[in-house]
Amino acid sequence: MDDSVPRLEVRDVTVRFAGLTALDAVGFTVEPGSVHAVIGPNGAGKSTCFNVLSGVYRATSGSVRFGDAELTALAPHRIAALGVARTFQNIALSAHLSVRDNLMLGRHRLTRAGFVSAGLRLPSARREAAAHGERVTEIATFVGLAERLATPVGLLPYGVQKRVELARALCMEPRLLLLDEPVAGMNGGERRDMAELIMAVRESLGISILLVEHDMGMVMRLADAVTVLDFGRRIADGTPAEVQNDPGVVRAYLGA
Ligand code: ADP
Ligand code: MG
Repeated sequence: MDDSVPRLEVRDVTVRFAGLTALDAVGFTVEPGSVHAVIGPNGAGKSTCFNVLSGVYRATSGSVRFGDAELTALAPHRIAALGVARTFQNIALSAHLSVRDNLMLGRHRLTRAGFVSAGLRLPSARREAAAHGERVTEIATFVGLAERLATPVGLLPYGVQKRVELARALCMEPRLLLLDEPVAGMNGGERRDMAELIMAVRESLGISILLVEHDMGMVMRLADAVTVLDFGRRIADGTPAEVQNDPGVVRAYLGA
């Protein structure tokens, strides 16, 4: 697979649920290696947008291109195989499994040797498992989880669990990382730590990050570009400074 980071192009994406247009002809472009934020009030369509990008929802119309690949009709595992990894607004980890096992699950799409060869204990399968184990340790160290690898995820504080989620997405070796409200429910210190971690991911891995976020301060600090949604429509698009001073955005956020 080509490892370079492609441009993500969302064009005229509309999503209708019975009687409700959750996204109305929304478009934006995520430049390779940038941090792009999608913001907007509750119910604006941010999570719906993520669900379309990751194949959980099918767009009613419009297209999503990732480099040469058209993602619009692909199943979630095909999109993941192209290097698009996501986290969820609510934590989606296996609480009873250790951090290491959760991260190993994140490497699943990269595992060539399946159950059969693993069951037969083929040397190639054992070597592959060892290599995945090493990479998991490396990623856990990078996100500050090295000491927690053996701990069941359910026993960790919430802020640390969010870190495990990010680490699991990184274990898929993504070229585009989709983060849905990564600091939701966190205290001030945890928010700062997570913001720093996201910057470190961008800087050291060079991948694109698409961030759904409610916290304006976080967006201002992290994002190169911002798309603002309100009631399913794109109401602004630009740099954080441009968007922050947009009268329509101020109105949407103040509910006036
Ligand atoms: P946000 O993440 O910006 O808060 P969402 O994308 O979750 O907003 O929701 C946008 C709108 O779409 C909301 O009105 C929500 O109730 C609706 N919606 C989201 N998912 C579904 C679904 N599966 N079925 C019906 N309506 C949905
Ligand atoms: Mg949401």
